[in-house]
Amino acid sequence: MSDIDGRAVAKHLREEVAAAAEKLRGRGVVPALAVVVPTDDEGTAWYVRSIAKAARKEGLECRVEQLQDPGRDEIVAKLQELSADPAVHGVICQTPLPEGVTLAEVGGHIDPYKDIDGANPHSLGRLAAGLRTWAPATSAAVLELLRREGAPLEGARAVVVGRSTVVGKPAALLLLAESATVTVCHSRTEDLASVCREADILVAAVGRPRMIGPDHVKPGATVIDVGTNPTEDGGLVGDVDYERVAAVAGRLTPVPGGVGPVTTALLLKHTVEAAELQNT
Ligand code: NAP
Repeated sequence: MSDIDGRAVAKHLREEVAAAAEKLRGRGVVPALAVVVPTDDEGTAWYVRSIAKAARKEGLECRVEQLQDPGRDEIVAKLQELSADPAVHGVICQTPLPEGVTLAEVGGHIDPYKDIDGANPHSLGRLAAGLRTWAPATSAAVLELLRREGAPLEGARAVVVGRSTVVGKPAALLLLAESATVTVCHSRTEDLASVCREADILVAAVGRPRMIGPDHVKPGATVIDVGTNPTEDGGLVGDVDYERVAAVAGRLTPVPGGVGPVTTALLLKHTVEAAELQNT
């Protein structure tokens, strides 16, 4: 079994981002990302700080808009304001959201040309229609890792466990666009393990620590673990039981150090692409 090294893929991507950002700055354009943070949550604050740090390191500006106990209208107003600001090229609305507010609803107010994390349902529609768009960065990270690993996609059997709008569904659409034969599983799937065992490529995006065990994995399969589940000691574990699955899988992403760093790098990459698009 070999580890899929997300940090190495992210480093490569971030070098590309830094070069693109420098070119833009040379033309007087400072690529800028704005992150709207609607809730006061320690995990989210840490994640947003890490995005901002990475952005600034690679020559982007990052504006963090922390909102205090906002309602739906305040979140929408902030997303509209940033969408209209010519100095901002990419807009993210960070989850979790306040009770009763959905990303699909507020994300619809992000200008599609600035929707670098695919939160606007318009972007998901374009993805489904095979049109140019930015997929949610986490789902795009799954594909980036598979491509950079050289995993054969055309005709491969791919199983995605999880059907959320931010990860499972767009990952399935991206795999389909690469001509994989895709099955999407969820909480009502019967005999999950036997469906998963058909997969050459298994993507776990569930949010249940170590749920995918060796019984779910075909020998030699490529396994991408999207899960990030906090542990009591302040660490992170994936949805895949890493130690036991490593004995069966051909390739496997670790958590941390797999999908996470590539997701951050792609948020930056999408932002410089948006800045280029808005300044041609
Ligand atoms: P989510 O919205 O809670 O969706 C979870 C999905 O898993 C749902 O489709 C659910 O099915 C399915 N599921 C739950 N229990 C299941 C079971 N026992 N068997 C089969 N399927 C089951 O979560 P998400 O936002 O997609 O996130 C998934 C994981 O990815 C989480 O750990 C999250 O923290 C992580 N994540 C990581 C990154 C990153 O950058 N690495 C980014 C985003 C998310 P139903 O639809 O039937 O309820």
